[in-house]
Amino acid sequence: MKKLTWLLLVIMVLIAINIFAIRPKNVANIRFKISFTVDEKATVPSQFADTLKKAEQLLSKVFSSSEFKEAMYKQNYNDSAYSKSKKKCFDIVFDQSTGRIPGKAVYDNLLADNEINLVINIKNNGDKKGTMGSSNACNYSITTYDYWLVEKGELAQRLARHIAHEFTHVRGYRHDNKVEKAYKWGHKPEEDPAYGVGSVVGEILRDWSKKGII
Ligand SMILES: [Zn+2]
Repeated sequence: MKKLTWLLLVIMVLIAINIFAIRPKNVANIRFKISFTVDEKATVPSQFADTLKKAEQLLSKVFSSSEFKEAMYKQNYNDSAYSKSKKKCFDIVFDQSTGRIPGKAVYDNLLADNEINLVINIKNNGDKKGTMGSSNACNYSITTYDYWLVEKGELAQRLARHIAHEFTHVRGYRHDNKVEKAYKWGHKPEEDPAYGVGSVVGEILRDWSKKGII
């Protein structure tokens, strides 16, 4: 009898450890609210509204998690002319001595508001498939091209990653090809905040998906 009690206790402890280990810990309370429009020349899958809702929930979960904070704190990016921006919707925080942007500054900038309202305008871009979409600093209305919006291979996760990328532009970080010569870094994706945030979000989602959390 005593042995059985011990065995049960050990099993319960193991279950408890497992539950706490796999549940993402929240360190913030971020809520994305995303609506969309579809241009008359563009098409989306029939369940797209549900897929976008799912992407919205995934993004809220990732941005609120300790995993996102920890991963972002390890990043370090090129200035990308962000320090010279005249836009007013974000604080400009960068390392004055190195001219670089610590991941913590990007994290704080992205999480400045608890509620993030975005509109996704879905458009057709003809035969061009070089870019998934576009956005501008402080404009919460982003463009997404329809060619890649197909319901295969976790569209909600791909959308979440794409929106995270565009939202990083909304918060002021640009690409190498969009900045003046003095701020270029040679198209290195690892130096680019938007690609960086996109891949951090993508990796967390892949990890959660593997662990059965999402
Ligand atoms: Zn971009």
